[in-house]
Amino acid sequence: MKDDNCIFCKIANGQIPSKTIYEDDRFRVILDLGPAARGHALILPKEHFANLYELPEDWTSDAFILARKMATQMQQKLHTDGFNIVQNNGIVAGQTVFHFHIHLIPRYENDGQKIGWKPGKPTDEELAQVQREILGE
Ligand code: 5GP
Ligand code: ZN
Repeated sequence: MKDDNCIFCKIANGQIPSKTIYEDDRFRVILDLGPAARGHALILPKEHFANLYELPEDWTSDAFILARKMATQMQQKLHTDGFNIVQNNGIVAGQTVFHFHIHLIPRYENDGQKIGWKPGKPTDEELAQVQREILGE
């Protein structure tokens, strides 16, 4: 299914041009227009899935296998010093385009970027509580 109002559906299916670095029958990989670092790319499925929860399992495995393949290729060709794989779901998590995508972010010494979080300091009981909730106990 495609969504007529979705810009990533249009880019993934070639209706809007993009700097494509990989394409197959399921995915297109494009350069991000607002890159965090040189070579920042996005893996886009050609079908519309809003987020990771909607992505079927076989697409999920294909997408992450492709992420590994692209990261390996980019690491070799762009001589990266490191690599971040980022995948946002929901506004609060930083998702701005509601068509599933994986960010491939090459990292370089002194690139000035910081991708991370402020570590919390949970007590052992707080960790045990969240463990119980996730396990459904
Ligand atoms: P999100 O914040 O949803 O995880 O990531 C959306 C990403 O898409 C951003 O990094 C943004 O720069 C990129 N982006 C948004 N619109 C376009 C576009 O039209 N073309 C390309 N190539 N990238 C886009
Ligand atoms: Zn879409």
